[in-house]
Amino acid sequence: MKKECSVVFDVLPLYLENMVSEDTAVFVREHLENCSDCTAEFERLKSGRQIDEAETPQSGHDAEVITAVKKKIARRIFKIVAAVCLIFAVLFSAMLLYTGISYPVTRDNISLSAKADGGYTYIVLETKAGKSLSFESKTEDVLNDQNEVCGRRITLYHLKYHNSFTKNASSMSWGRPLQDEEPYMEVVVELENDDILQISNEEVARPVGSGNGK
Ligand SMILES: [Zn+2]
Repeated sequence: MKKECSVVFDVLPLYLENMVSEDTAVFVREHLENCSDCTAEFERLKSGRQIDEAETPQSGHDAEVITAVKKKIARRIFKIVAAVCLIFAVLFSAMLLYTGISYPVTRDNISLSAKADGGYTYIVLETKAGKSLSFESKTEDVLNDQNEVCGRRITLYHLKYHNSFTKNASSMSWGRPLQDEEPYMEVVVELENDDILQISNEEVARPVGSGNGK
């Protein structure tokens, strides 16, 4: 091996990494053009470096690595967003199911009572907490023995209840002044299976001394 060759052998790794001065680079380039031994060594070093780069990503591959990581993060975010959307959809559906389905009303679901207050009698229909009631109603005259109108009858039918998010029991009431010419009032609630709840204001009006009846 020529003296020049041993010098070139020594600097080839640096030359490969562009870490030699311009003069040295020119010297190495010219030598490689005329020396097959050094060219062979140069090719060997170059292919070895390529294998190294393939095995461990260097700065040249950073952009690709960052892109891959970004894609991975984007996919993960998409999955999280999709999961959150799914959870909300399920909750919303559950809420609709909870409030949207109507159930037949039995006497366990409601209570009917009568009370007197300030010259009025009231009939009160109460619904359990967390239930909301829907129904249709009709009002008819109530006749006494002489076929005179003495009061009215309110009939509730087609009762259904829905679950609701209200915490308190809901109630509705019908009032009638005791001094009215037709003070009698009764409420009839038609329930499932021909079950009927019925109450009249006489149940509270009598102790007060109202003479009128049906
Ligand atoms: Zn040489």
